[in-house]
Amino acid sequence: MGRIIAIANQKGGVGKTTTAVNLAAALAASPRKVLLIDLDPQGNATMASGVDKRDLENSTCEVLLRECDAAAAIVTTAEGYDLLPGNIDLTAAEIQLMDQTEREQRLKAALLPIRENYHYILIDCPPSLSLLTLNALAAADGVIVPMQCEYFALEGLSALVNTIDALKQRLNPALQIEGIVRTMYDVRNNLANAVSGELTTHFGDKVFRSIIPRNVRLAEAPSHGQSIVGYDKASRGGIAYMGLAGEIVRREKKHKETA
Ligand code: ADP
Ligand code: MG
Repeated sequence: MGRIIAIANQKGGVGKTTTAVNLAAALAASPRKVLLIDLDPQGNATMASGVDKRDLENSTCEVLLRECDAAAAIVTTAEGYDLLPGNIDLTAAEIQLMDQTEREQRLKAALLPIRENYHYILIDCPPSLSLLTLNALAAADGVIVPMQCEYFALEGLSALVNTIDALKQRLNPALQIEGIVRTMYDVRNNLANAVSGELTTHFGDKVFRSIIPRNVRLAEAPSHGQSIVGYDKASRGGIAYMGLAGEIVRREKKHKETA
């Protein structure tokens, strides 16, 4: 059974999509069977995977509205993972879902039949706690929270942790914070180092050891429709995401041994 991981943070521009895409590619190179789901109307994860969001026959929109099966919307990418693409139609889907039954459980139900085809299913969430994100959190076993080590980051993080705790009771009792990943990190920035120190004090081994540096190759890769693994695996960003993938695989092995 594939492990479903939502990549979430209600803040925009913290590296959710960059983490979702590059982690998907790094896990695929590890090698694991990976499905990446684009649940953000911006469709950035879709474009960054080399798939044109303006030209989708089926997408997460149709899947959430039960107009097609997940399997019928999934495409393969040159990056070694499968993609359930998304685009602006998700905004309409969200509005239509509002007055429908089981509106928070649509993604979970849609993934049931295909879950066993994958080791990992990663979901790129929009920057909000909208109905779309609720669908991701209802379907997920774990949440990976990308964060930038900035002044207000810890405050935002505790808000997110509280929200996840509240949701857990109502929506998904098994939901866990899988880990927090520090993104766009600059070791020369004293504030970042201080925030990072506080983060590890509060969250201990929930904080991934792998730190994603600020790296221009990571910012360039999406404009080529490639992950960092395809674009420049040897870059600092590429090495960091391969390291993060290794950490996730090792953690899961450890869980299985102790279970
Ligand atoms: P989110 O999905 O949380 O809104 P993105 O992953 O789209 O955030 O990242 C926001 C911007 O920062 C994008 O332009 C992206 O290319 C850039 N970016 C993300 N991570 C890095 C990094 N580690 N180094 C350099 N640029 C990055
Ligand atoms: Mg994004």
